[in-house]
Amino acid sequence: MECPHCGYHDSKVIDSRDVNDGIRRRRQCLSCHKRFTTYERLQPASLFVIKKDQRREELDRHKLLNGLRKACEKRPLPTGTVDKLADDIEAQLYRLGRTEIPGKIIGDMVMEGLKNLDHIAYIRFASVYRDFTDITVLKREVDTLASSQTEATSPPSAQLPLLPDENMKEVTSSHQRNRR
Ligand SMILES: [Zn+2]
Repeated sequence: MECPHCGYHDSKVIDSRDVNDGIRRRRQCLSCHKRFTTYERLQPASLFVIKKDQRREELDRHKLLNGLRKACEKRPLPTGTVDKLADDIEAQLYRLGRTEIPGKIIGDMVMEGLKNLDHIAYIRFASVYRDFTDITVLKREVDTLASSQTEATSPPSAQLPLLPDENMKEVTSSHQRNRR
């Protein structure tokens, strides 16, 4: 492990502790004496996806990320949102503790994640993934989203009453009087 400050190849461990899913080590460079932190993690066992035709394919993070990126293309989402969603889905999948997972479960997780993130991205993904051949099914999906959105919006605030004309005159004249 090279020192991130000077690139020296050796360091000593000054502290190590267990964190959630690994070990965190505090190290000190033997050359410049600056400190840095390393994490040691167990590489999770490979996870295989069961395809529709029963073939098994190793879970591919890049593939997952590409699918999400395509769905979220040109959507007004903060940088890193898509990567975070991919991380979350991956973590959820590993947490299931299985070695093989039907592709449908992953697809459903992606749908759920996108639904909470961006409705346009969700519809984009769904139209490919669910293979909407029937426009009525797609319309039903859009209607469901639209109605959940209107419920969330707050009612328009009451308009402020306008000042009666007489009050306005009074304000103006007293203002002019003060100026003299
Ligand atoms: Zn150093």
